[in-house]
Amino acid sequence: MAEFLTTTGTSHNIEQIIINSKDTLILVSPYLQLSKTLFERLKDASNRNTEITIIYGKDELKPNEKNSLAELSNLRLLYFENLHAKCYCNDNNMVITSMNMYEFSEKNNREMGVLIDKERDKELYQKAFAEIKSIIGSSDLVSNKKTERNFPPNQTNEPIKTNTTYKITNRGYCIRCEARIPLNPNKPLCGDCYASWAHYENPDYEENVCHSCGEYQDTSMNKPFCYTCFKKLKDTFSLKA
Ligand SMILES: [Zn+2]
Ligand SMILES: [Zn+2]
Repeated sequence: MAEFLTTTGTSHNIEQIIINSKDTLILVSPYLQLSKTLFERLKDASNRNTEITIIYGKDELKPNEKNSLAELSNLRLLYFENLHAKCYCNDNNMVITSMNMYEFSEKNNREMGVLIDKERDKELYQKAFAEIKSIIGSSDLVSNKKTERNFPPNQTNEPIKTNTTYKITNRGYCIRCEARIPLNPNKPLCGDCYASWAHYENPDYEENVCHSCGEYQDTSMNKPFCYTCFKKLKDTFSLKA
């Protein structure tokens, strides 16, 4: 018999479905944000050669999220515009729920779910699976490749030195939200992100991208650059290792 799930049970079972997936893992969720835990679980599944299909429909993925997903070799990424259903399934189990995928590691909302077992709830599983197949059939395939940052032809990623002052141009990225901001190792966050950083003022708090190339990296206020950019820029900005 299908099992009723509360918030905790729902997140537990979504995680178990990802962890215990063998051949197939299908995640249907309008809102797709990649938490670290979720990404690591997906990476493990991909390394086990599980064929992962993610169908999303609401938001645009951020470049660093796309680049992370591009590391998963067994992932098929699909977009379905009017998606509102949330459903997670592997070879043996399925959860149909109100919970979005990124919320399984946070427990802020009150959710409900139903756990379906492929063998015990055969008919139910098959009907829901047929609906997933139908959604997949009408979805658009999203290219799952790493995006490189492109700069306009006459613009490079190097800071321009005019006498001793650096010309202010938007050649950097906010290390938290990826907005284009001036390249300045002392101010690697945009105004909004700086304001939220300033609540805690933790210079080692882990951010998302390199301030210079915008690629997905573990950076921080203390270390806003990836290693390649650090080497390139250390003399210009007199950076300390
Ligand atoms: Zn920002
Ligand atoms: Zn970089």
